[in-house]
Parts: sequence; C-alpha cells; structure tokens
Amino acid sequence: MAHPIKEEKTFVLIKPDGVRKGLIGEVIKRFEQRDLKIVALEMFMPTRQMIDDHYPKDPAWIERLGMKTLSTYEKYGIDAKKELGSNDAKELGNMVRGWLLDFMTSAPLVRMVVQGTHAVDVVRKIAGPTLPYAADMGTIRGDFSIDSPALANSEKRAVANIVHCSETPEEAAHEIKHWFGKAVIHQYKRHGVDE
Ligand code: ADP
Repeated sequence: MAHPIKEEKTFVLIKPDGVRKGLIGEVIKRFEQRDLKIVALEMFMPTRQMIDDHYPKDPAWIERLGMKTLSTYEKYGIDAKKELGSNDAKELGNMVRGWLLDFMTSAPLVRMVVQGTHAVDVVRKIAGPTLPYAADMGTIRGDFSIDSPALANSEKRAVANIVHCSETPEEAAHEIKHWFGKAVIHQYKRHGVDE
C-alpha cells in the first residue's frame, strides 16, 4: 500500500524548445531517476485558447511577469522604455504573456502527470528556477538553456526554459484537471519505491 505522502501529483509540460531540442527523454529520465513516476503522458498540438486558459490572467501574476523583465533590464542597464516602449510592469507583463502564447503554440508539447513524494517541490527543484541564465547546473533549465529575459525580450519573445511545472499542490490539481480532464491517471507500483 503506497503511503499517501508518496501520492502527491504535479503537472509538467515540455515546452516547444524542449521538444525541438530532443529533450523529451532526458526530462522524463530526470524525474524517473529521482524515484518519481509518470502516471499520464501525451504529445499534442495546443490551441492558443488552451494556452491562454492555462496561464493566469490575474493582474498580480501579469505584473510579476513584467517585474522579471524590469529587474533583469535594470541589472544589465537596459532601458525598457527605449527597447520595449514601456517601463510599466503591468504593460510589460501583458506583452510577455502574449509572447508566451506565441511561443507555446509554436510546436507540439508533451503533457504529463508526475507522482511521488513531495512531487510538486521536487519537480520544481529538478527543473530549476524560471530564468535559465541564473539556473544552477544540474537542473534541467541550467543544463539545457542559457536564455534570459534581456535577450528574449529584445527579440520580442518569451524566455525558452524547456519545461513548465506546477508551483503548488493547488495549482497542480487545477492544471491536471485543465490538461487531462477525464483522461485516466494511471496507478502502478514503482519497483523499489512503492514495494
Ligand atoms: P515558471 O514557469 O517557472 O512558473 P513564471 O510563472 O514566472 O515561471 O513564468 C511563466 C513563463 O513565462 C516562464 O516559464 C517563461 O517561459 C516565461 N517568462 C517569465 N518571465 C519572463 C520574462 N520576463 N520575459 C519573457 N518570458 C518570461
């Protein structure tokens, strides 16, 4: 009988850059080698609407997205107003959100549900922080991307960082419902982990 603590589930999307760099196997391998198990998995081509429904629309989330641009621009002495026409975090956040929709619909994605002990936190740790140029080596984002908002935004695009993974168990439950709906989430015993 699996202990309830081992049954935490999280949601992961392999983004267009991860798929196009041939990293599907590598990403899955890193979760599996940490004793997490894949309990649902599918490649699909998303619609813009699906991605629009996935990313939050609340003003605080959008402003936080813009702040990420502003803080790297400040760090590297780039004038956001000159380069992007605004230095307002909300405006920049909306701009970035639009680029994110373009990026996320530029190739097929791989969606999965990952289950295991503290799956939400452990998967985020394996993925590494949002901005790859600042991510430690040994994380997916640190090992396979070097992208930064300063570079991405100057090219009018979202930061390419290989994977999306839920941030909290509540967000995971919401995203699993959004992306898998009534699809079956499988159950099996991981050898050496569940038995
Ligand atoms: P995470 O994906 O780590 O949860 P966020 O929720 O903050 O990160 O951002 C969602 C996604 O938006 C990021 O994964 C990244 O692809 C993109 N992104 C975040 N901040 C920026 C930015 N300043 N400029 C461009 N793209 C960004």
